[in-house]
Amino acid sequence: MDTNRYYKNPFMDYSSVTGYNIVDIDNNTIDDNFKSLLTSKINEFMKILEKNDKIWYSNNDYSTYTGLAGIAYIFYHYGKYYNNSAYVTKAMELLEKCIAEFKSRHEITFLTGIVGPLSLTAIMLHSQQKEEQANQLILRLKSFSVYILDKHNDISNELLYGRTGYLAALLYINENISPLCIEADLIRKVGSCIINSGITYASSNHSQSPLMYSWHEKEYVGGAHGLSGILYLLLQARHYLTQEQIDKYIKPSLYYLQGLQFSSGNFPSSIRNQSDRLVQWCHGAPGMSGLFCLAYKVFRDDAFLKTAIQCGEVTWERGLLRKGYSICHGVAGNGYTFIRLFQQTKDIKYLYRACKFAEWCFHYETHQNRSPDRLFSLFEGLAGVIYFLLDVQQSHIAKFPTYDIKI
Ligand SMILES: [Zn+2]
Repeated sequence: MDTNRYYKNPFMDYSSVTGYNIVDIDNNTIDDNFKSLLTSKINEFMKILEKNDKIWYSNNDYSTYTGLAGIAYIFYHYGKYYNNSAYVTKAMELLEKCIAEFKSRHEITFLTGIVGPLSLTAIMLHSQQKEEQANQLILRLKSFSVYILDKHNDISNELLYGRTGYLAALLYINENISPLCIEADLIRKVGSCIINSGITYASSNHSQSPLMYSWHEKEYVGGAHGLSGILYLLLQARHYLTQEQIDKYIKPSLYYLQGLQFSSGNFPSSIRNQSDRLVQWCHGAPGMSGLFCLAYKVFRDDAFLKTAIQCGEVTWERGLLRKGYSICHGVAGNGYTFIRLFQQTKDIKYLYRACKFAEWCFHYETHQNRSPDRLFSLFEGLAGVIYFLLDVQQSHIAKFPTYDIKI
């Protein structure tokens, strides 16, 4: 275990005494005092973000992950939460630029491709009753499926750059636009393509898991590049899949994945790697808690919930990372572990823990040993921290962006 990666958690764990002024036990929600603290921090951070617009506006990165679309996403999230249409308008302007500037047709995921800005814009247009314009964008997004479903194309399957990242966009649109506008058949085809690719790889590499994938020749395990991120999105797409696909491939792969958990509660970052190092959303336990909560909800096996709870324990112990505050590999992302456990168990302890991780983020830039490359971005920077703080305020409906979609 590498103790240089995290700060020893200085917070007392939940009790009725430590929870005072932080959570409201009677209503199973956050306390109004803590909510005011969150609001003032969110507004302070938004001002910093807006003041630095020259930096994030002109870096030629238009992705949701580290670029302009991610900034638009936080403006949209903020505008929607505080019912401030000026922020939603600003978000749409930024997304328009993203769509115009995106060049590559080979970046096909919500997080790294034009699919992200197309999805977000379509949803905003739909909410403004601009159905015709929204449909145009959705048609464009659907046209990528020809490339994605072509077995001869060398596309990976993971969330950040692969097919699962496209599946995330399809699910996101159907979750946010009613009546459904992505046909079940398309989602079924993309899901099946991911499953078939995992079966082929697993059998030719003699994997013990019925589904296995590699990215850059490594069999990753975590949320961003690995098996857990793929299984999580497939499980969220379960209504489009066959019972055989679920029972014969997804469920046993979940048991296989569960077997990789270290006694600490953490997970390796790749298969055959026994080092218990990274506790962050992209690699390690924080990216798995949501998956095992959902697995418990779907299959009603208590062992899955136990695995999710163990993810929560190691994240509480080792989740205040020296690396920083981001949602991809920092404290804000780790905080979602507790939000998901709270949503699943309704145990106020987890809401308290999410609040304490939020409190740690109040001192943004104090506890980090290096500055992220994309200082203000959604997945590596300040925008993600704001997103998390907003979500702590509405923890019953909070969702890790582009990852918790249909949970
Ligand atoms: Zn990361």
